[in-house]
Amino acid sequence: MTRMGSREERHKHQHDLVPLAALLSRELRNEKMEKPAVRYGCATQSRKGEDYVLTKTDCQRVLGNPSTSFSVFAVFDGHNGNAAAIFSRDNLLNHILSAIPRGLGREEWLQALPRALVAGFVKTDKEFQSRGQTSGTTATFVIVDGWTVTVASVGDSRCVLDTQGGAVTALTVDHRLEENVEERERVTASGGEVGRLSIFGGSEIGPLRCWPGGLCLSRSIGDMDVGEFIVPIPHVKQVKLSNAGGRMIIASDGIWDALSSEVAAKSCRGLPAELAARQVVKEALRTRGLKDDTTCIVVDIIPPDNTVQPPAPPKKYNKFQAFLFRKIFRDSSSRLSKKLSAVGIVEELFEEGSAMLAERLGNDDSSGQTTVGLFICAVCQTDLAPSEGISVHAGSIFSTSSKPWQGPFLCSDCRNKKDAMEGKRPSGVKVV
Ligand SMILES: [Zn+2]
Repeated sequence: MTRMGSREERHKHQHDLVPLAALLSRELRNEKMEKPAVRYGCATQSRKGEDYVLTKTDCQRVLGNPSTSFSVFAVFDGHNGNAAAIFSRDNLLNHILSAIPRGLGREEWLQALPRALVAGFVKTDKEFQSRGQTSGTTATFVIVDGWTVTVASVGDSRCVLDTQGGAVTALTVDHRLEENVEERERVTASGGEVGRLSIFGGSEIGPLRCWPGGLCLSRSIGDMDVGEFIVPIPHVKQVKLSNAGGRMIIASDGIWDALSSEVAAKSCRGLPAELAARQVVKEALRTRGLKDDTTCIVVDIIPPDNTVQPPAPPKKYNKFQAFLFRKIFRDSSSRLSKKLSAVGIVEELFEEGSAMLAERLGNDDSSGQTTVGLFICAVCQTDLAPSEGISVHAGSIFSTSSKPWQGPFLCSDCRNKKDAMEGKRPSGVKVV
């Protein structure tokens, strides 16, 4: 979770903001918070042919209603073959959308997304594994709905946000054993072994890997031949951009092994999205050569009418702005929200990275029960007989619910998967 400054600091910043907000309010008084325009570009240089992308700008929350449109952008970096990457590209979106309850308004829909993303990732992983094919993939999945951006990710294909103020922020967390201590501890606690490759003579080489399997990542989709503690549960972050818009760079590790987030963002500033994506790939190749599949999607969120766009803030505010990636709770007043938007501040609406399914699916009084009185599995969405569903919280020491009979519910298959991911039943190589 993002750490915030002390209460005093926040008060101070809020206090500091007022004059600037007042300055801009004249221009913003008549502002229409119309939907921003979305422009994107995509570039790739292939070496192994295991990077895949999904770019779709014509999705609709309510089918047939173009005013409910949203866009999806995703990068899948496959390993040990390309089957998992292709399968995820073709199925992940549908699995996510089918986990969102029907008939929600826009705000509710956005709030339901984080949980639906978890369900969709786990369902895709489970389905792919059931096909008995080896290979795995990273998945960095970005949903753009108006000014709200929701990012879900497993693996190390990063998504960074470049805002007008010049602050470059990661919207994802790298699930790499080498750098991510928390994930190393989780994998070890769930029965995996973490270590480097030993070569003849006993010396160790390369990055930290997880055994069995030897994967450098701690989360992925697929990978049936490694331990189940390599989980498909995504880190999810949801932010609301200011009405100055912003740019997202979504790319595979071919980019990030060569360029830092900052350098990648700086290398393409001022270029339209199509050229920007090509520029980032070019810059990565110039730095490191073509060592790996190298893929980049650049997505620009552009204010609908540039005349209401606030002017670039005075120089002295730039540094200060970089610190103001602040967390605003859902019940915060819309007035505050507008003020933050006016000074180019990104609101953080949601962030959760836990690998525990029970924590991610939350507590539920009613959902899981459809209108016809049937229960459905919170992960794979299959119908359950009332006696069949097992609460996601049943028998869990991590339970946050005092009522283990409450939903959400899982089918026995998904319950088995949950236990395996938490190291509660033997995992590893499965017999096909
Ligand atoms: Zn299920």
